Order: sequence, then structure tokens, then C-alpha cells
Amino acid sequence: MTIVSHWISGAERPATGRTAPVTNPATGAETARVALADRAVVDDAVRAATTAFPGWADTSLARRTAVLFRFRELLNARSDELAAIITAEHGKVLDDARGEVARGREVVEFACGMPHLLKGGFTENASTAVDVHSLRQPVGPVVIISPFNFPAMVPLWFFPIAIAAGNTVVLKPSEKVPSAALWLARLWKEAGLPDGVFNVVNGDKEAVDALLAHPDVAAVSFVGSTPVATYVHETASRHGKRVQALGGAKNHMLVLPDADLDHAADQAVNAGFGSAGQRCMAISVVVAVGDVADPLVERIAERARKLRTGDGRRGCDMGPLVSAASRDRVAAYVAAGAAAGARVVVDGRNDTYDADGEGFFVGPTLLDNVEPGMSVYTDEIFGPVLSVVRVASYEEGVALINANPYGNGTAIFTGDGGTARRFCREVQVGMVGVNVPVPVPMAYYSFGGWKASLFGDVHAHGTEGVHFFTRAKVVTTRWTENRRGLELAFPVTT
Ligand code: NAD
Repeated sequence: MTIVSHWISGAERPATGRTAPVTNPATGAETARVALADRAVVDDAVRAATTAFPGWADTSLARRTAVLFRFRELLNARSDELAAIITAEHGKVLDDARGEVARGREVVEFACGMPHLLKGGFTENASTAVDVHSLRQPVGPVVIISPFNFPAMVPLWFFPIAIAAGNTVVLKPSEKVPSAALWLARLWKEAGLPDGVFNVVNGDKEAVDALLAHPDVAAVSFVGSTPVATYVHETASRHGKRVQALGGAKNHMLVLPDADLDHAADQAVNAGFGSAGQRCMAISVVVAVGDVADPLVERIAERARKLRTGDGRRGCDMGPLVSAASRDRVAAYVAAGAAAGARVVVDGRNDTYDADGEGFFVGPTLLDNVEPGMSVYTDEIFGPVLSVVRVASYEEGVALINANPYGNGTAIFTGDGGTARRFCREVQVGMVGVNVPVPVPMAYYSFGGWKASLFGDVHAHGTEGVHFFTRAKVVTTRWTENRRGLELAFPVTT
């Protein structure tokens, strides 16, 4: 059986030691094993990144970005190959996988503009015969730890910017979806990236712990669940590293009585069931204001029942959950919701699926009359379950959203610009949509939630990403003219 291993210094590193199964979630079949790195493998990868760092940081911006442009062209030409790998290990339908690759590629395109992004400021004659300029320099070897749900896009949020800015990278992808990272590593090699600038270690907690404590790692970008994000943020900070840790989510969609109900129902279904609800920006709670609830629930149910669930390679609307454990967890939440008094309007637990074998499926599920105390409301389910909470007013809806511990994404559906504007100002969430259910920012803006959805203060990509992967320096210069003599007082401008 194939063993998906590591990529260190421009070559595959043969697997040694522990491995774990890689499955195709649509069939339940084990398709490969993934090597799980121990400390020795992690040390080798960080050594490769540390050795490559001075040369890469010293490579001109023109040469660095030329590699990025070649990488972009290759990624564009071969995106279907990558999408197929994503579907085979994650299960999301092919169109969705293609979308993920396209959104990741946009960050490469943003990073191709690094010469512009790294331009510093210059002030002539700030004080008499004294000039000041600023610059940004790479931080060193950086680590990216990514979740299963976007095998390509989430790593792509970070490494194009890190590399273009002159850093070297060790990527630790989710052990559930290890192959996309190795494919990307080979693409970098083809694009002409020097060996050691981009490395991949596959693994689990053992590899993560070794990376977080490694003295040569300068910065850590993490994306995953909130408990692990908290752990990574605390541990990496304790080891003196710069860290951004993006966590879980519970995203609400507030639907007002003046919304276009057909549009709102379409978008609730797209955002709730796309990728089988396994997106950190998925809508999991529809907050229905006033008498909008009955017609909205009816419209969502009608659409949800028409969706075809099955193998992502067969043109279905929705694929499986990533693992048997995820499927069982999702089904248990639906049962707990029903037991607590929620009405199961559409029950995906007993659907039929267009797939061979024993895939990990739960069909689209809609729960009405969900109350904030129920576990279907309080917990991140990360599956195709939409919960409808009924509220009496806009104010009650916003209060509900703001009381939630997560603050990743949210959306308002309304025809009233004034109320939408008020929502954007009042809601305590990092990414907000107005009649847009999954408001993922473009690459040139920054991606990040508030509260328990992000630990650290710097969001991903955009200018915040450039700042995360660089250190600022300010240089104050005086040449020989207007030299000053002895002067022990604190210097003042003249
Ligand atoms: P996860 O937290 O289980 O795993 C994320 C990464 O951490 C993986 O690489 C994994 O190997 C590693 N890991 C897991 N347990 C660990 C531990 N105990 N110690 C150290 N490392 C550990 O997350 P997941 O299930 O792969 O992904 C789904 C989660 O990611 C959801 O909560 C989702 O909301 C979140 N997510 C958030 C964003 C965002 O931008 N905020 C984006 C995508 C996914």
C-alpha cells in the first residue's frame, strides 16, 4: 500500500515508524497510509528550512517573485489534478474542490505583488540632514499547521506570502488529507523553488508538539478547532514564537421579514450543506425573525430534500463526512436535538447515497425550533445540519449572535440598507456578509474571526499576512554634513 510520507529539502523522505490510515470517505476504503513524523523527522525538516533561509532571504525580490509566477501558472494549468486529490481524501464534490483551489490560487496571485507590498517609507530631512526609512524583513523558518477541511486552500492562505516575503516553510497538514501538500511541494520544485524553502512533515500531535517547541521555528500559523488552537497559541507563545491560531466557528444567518425569501433559502442551503457543512464559514444557524420563520423553513426544506448526496466524483451536490467518527458524531447531535425538543424537518440520517461501499454519509438535515441551550446550538457540529432559531426581533437576533462564544462569520439577509449597515456596525464577528452567506474575504483583504475563532491578533493573508511573516525595521541616517559634537541629552529634532 502507498505510504504518503514527508518532503524535506526538495525530496520525498521515506517513511519510518508510525503510520495512520488514509481513507476515501465516499467509499470508506483505506487508500493509503500516512507517515506520522517523530521528533527526528521534524528536526530534519526544520534544519532544512533553517539552512535554506539565509540564501532565500537574500534572493532578490525579482527572482523570488519569478518563482511565484511560475508556481501560479503550474497551479492554474494543473488545478484539476489537485482537485481530484482533494475529493479522493476529503470527500467534497469536485466542483467544490475546484473552488477551493481557485480561492487558494488567489493568494498566490496576491503574493506575486510582494515587491509592492514590501515597499517601505522614506522621509527626507526628518531632522536637519537626517533621513528616515522603514523596511520589512522575513522572520525565518515558519510553521503552518492546517486542518482537514481545506487540504489546499488553508495552507495556501499562508505559504505563498511567507515564501514571497523571504521566509522558509515547514507545513504540517492534517493527517486525514496528507496528499495535497506533497503535490504542492512537487509543484514548487517544478517552479524552481530552491530545496529546503518549502518542506512538508506529515503527522499528528507528536509532530505538532516537536514543531511548537523547536528553537529554530520563528512563527506558527495554525488553523483548526478551538481547543487545539488555544493549545497551539499558548504553547507556541510560551516558546517565544509569533503565533496566529484560527479556531472553530458557529456562524449565524439572520433573516429579516423584508428579505428576498427565495434568495435567503437558496443561500442557507448552499452555505449550510456545501462541503457537507465542513467549512469554518458554513452557516449552521438560521436566525428567523418574526413571521419569516414558517415560509423560510418550508423553502429550505423543499430545497434540501432535492439535493443528491454521494461520491463527489459523480456530480452529486454534497459528499460525505470526512470519517466514520464525524458521521457518528453528527448523527448523535441530531438525535440529541430531537430529544431536547427540536423538530427534525429534514432528517439526513436515513438518506440513500449515490456511492459504492460504506461511505461516511449523513444527508442534509434541517432542525426547527432549536433553543440556545441545546447542544445542537452550543457546539460546532461541522456537518450538514442547519438549525433554525426563531426570534421576535432584529435586536433579539443580534443579541443571540453576540452572546455566542465564536465570532468567525455571519450574514444578514434583508432588503433594508439601513438595517444592514447597523448590523455591520453592531455584530461582534470578524467576517460579515450582507445577503452573502459565506463572506470569505478576497486574498488582498485578511481572513479571521473574533473571540474563540482566533487567538493572536493577526488575521490570515492580505496585508495582515504580510505583516505576520515580516519584521519591521526603521533606519535613521545622518551622513557627514551637519555632524553634531558631544551632546548627552536625549536627541531632539532640529
Ligand atoms: P483539528 O483541530 O482536529 O486539527 C487541526 C490540526 O491540528 C491538524 O493538523 C491536526 O493534526 C492537529 N492536531 C489535532 N489535534 C491536536 C492536538 N491535540 N495537539 C496538537 N495538534 C493537534 O481540526 P480539524 O478537525 O482538522 O478541522 C476542523 C476544525 O478546523 C473546525 O473546528 C473548523 O471550524 C476549524 N477551521 C477553522 C478555520 C478558520 O479559519 N477559523 C478554517 C478551517 C477550519
